[in-house]
Amino acid sequence: MNILFVSAEVAPFSKAGGLADVAGSLPGALTPYAESVGIISPLYGHINKKQFDIIATEVSGEVALGMEHIPYTMFMAEHPNGSIPVWFVSNDRFFARNGIYTKADGEGFKDNIQRYFFFQLVVLDLLNKRVFDVDILHCNDHHTGLLPSMTKSLDMKIKSIFTIHNFLYHGHFSKEDSKLLPDVFSGSYTLTQWDNYSSLLEGIDNADRVNTVSPGYARELLAGDNVDANSLIRLRYAEHKFSGIVNGIDTKYWDPENDQYTPHHFSAESLEGKLKNKIELLTSMGLDTDVKAPVLGLISRLVENKGFPLIVKLLDEFVKRGVKFVFLGSGDPIIAAQLRKACVKHPRKIAFDDGFNEPLAHLIEAGSDMFLMPSRFEPCGLNQLYSLRYGTIPIVNNTGGLGDTVENWQPGSGTGFVFDSYDLNSLRAAMKRAIDTFRLKEEWTDLIKRGMSKDFSWDQSAKQYLNLYEI
Ligand code: ADP
Repeated sequence: MNILFVSAEVAPFSKAGGLADVAGSLPGALTPYAESVGIISPLYGHINKKQFDIIATEVSGEVALGMEHIPYTMFMAEHPNGSIPVWFVSNDRFFARNGIYTKADGEGFKDNIQRYFFFQLVVLDLLNKRVFDVDILHCNDHHTGLLPSMTKSLDMKIKSIFTIHNFLYHGHFSKEDSKLLPDVFSGSYTLTQWDNYSSLLEGIDNADRVNTVSPGYARELLAGDNVDANSLIRLRYAEHKFSGIVNGIDTKYWDPENDQYTPHHFSAESLEGKLKNKIELLTSMGLDTDVKAPVLGLISRLVENKGFPLIVKLLDEFVKRGVKFVFLGSGDPIIAAQLRKACVKHPRKIAFDDGFNEPLAHLIEAGSDMFLMPSRFEPCGLNQLYSLRYGTIPIVNNTGGLGDTVENWQPGSGTGFVFDSYDLNSLRAAMKRAIDTFRLKEEWTDLIKRGMSKDFSWDQSAKQYLNLYEI
């Protein structure tokens, strides 16, 4: 079986969110079982070619987008996780700029439709030219949603899998946009209720198998949660080929015993390093260093559905209860302004790093006591998994992958604090329970150890993907 993983982001080269983590770690877990596994992604301007040993290849070509013939060249690197070839599509006009989908201020690039049309057409061109042998084309999210129908309409002997990492983003395009694509494709899409097309729904309609990143989120989608009527009809049509597979994590990269970004290492058997990381975190963020008080961490894209409308309303109250908060995130400027305002009001109790900061993300996981993740919906969520591995107790809403991976604390059992309804009182009650439990030293240490002993490696989930590939 030859598998090509197609993704708009791949960690550690390019990352906006969880899609990158999956694209950077699932292929490695598949290699023992496949003849070949490769990854293909755009070469964005901010990717450091030297750092990752990314080299130019002799492969190049051009694809037609509307009236234009646009050239591409191909670069390559070996993924640091093992001997997996990563192919990079290079084109100055579409990808040389900094940023994956947005400018630094969070505003989306105006030509994102053209950029990902182009990316998909290049993948298709490479498949046509047989630059690599592919039996299974594993497409991810809307940036790759047209590939399943493209390979079908060209009668390629390739099976396609389409993974939904987030149903919120459709990659809508208009009838006018569709004319940019070669005629053989442009007439074959299904209109949505808004008289446009959805790349996401095209992927769902046309792939041989469709899955999302947790069983819980799969159930919610099929039940119509946060799904419009038209999409629901198309999802239900796909039900026979639809499943949920929970994400694994890269246990080497997210490893409290060997983390390259944290000053102190620790394990379930020896937790002193965690306390030292807490002091390091508090000091480096300019917060009071009284270690007896709980620290709540949060790392996230700043978007409404991650629970910020609830969080910001509870900050004053919980600061009064002695809690400190460390926030890391970038995105919505309104949310960023709210967090900044809270820091001004409580300078020694609340810290906020506005940006994308990989080393700080690791220090927050390692140094916080609890991780706040009260998402309104969550396809899988990775930070609650990193948190469990780092002995940082997650406080989560019972939705999607959060409900699948965190068990509510009861005396002597559970791994985190789970609340059942997305509202202020439920979150407040879960945070209070967490803070009260934190003061019970023995109970808290047991809770940490239970979470740290869970296995969230890719092993089980990779096997489920292999079943999908056996179409
Ligand atoms: P989503 O895919 O919806 O963004 P996930 O929890 O699945 O949410 O994955 C988010 C990933 O992105 C995690 O690895 C998280 O640590 C990382 N991340 C999000 N925001 C930042 C940031 N500002 N700095 C560093 N890492 C971030």
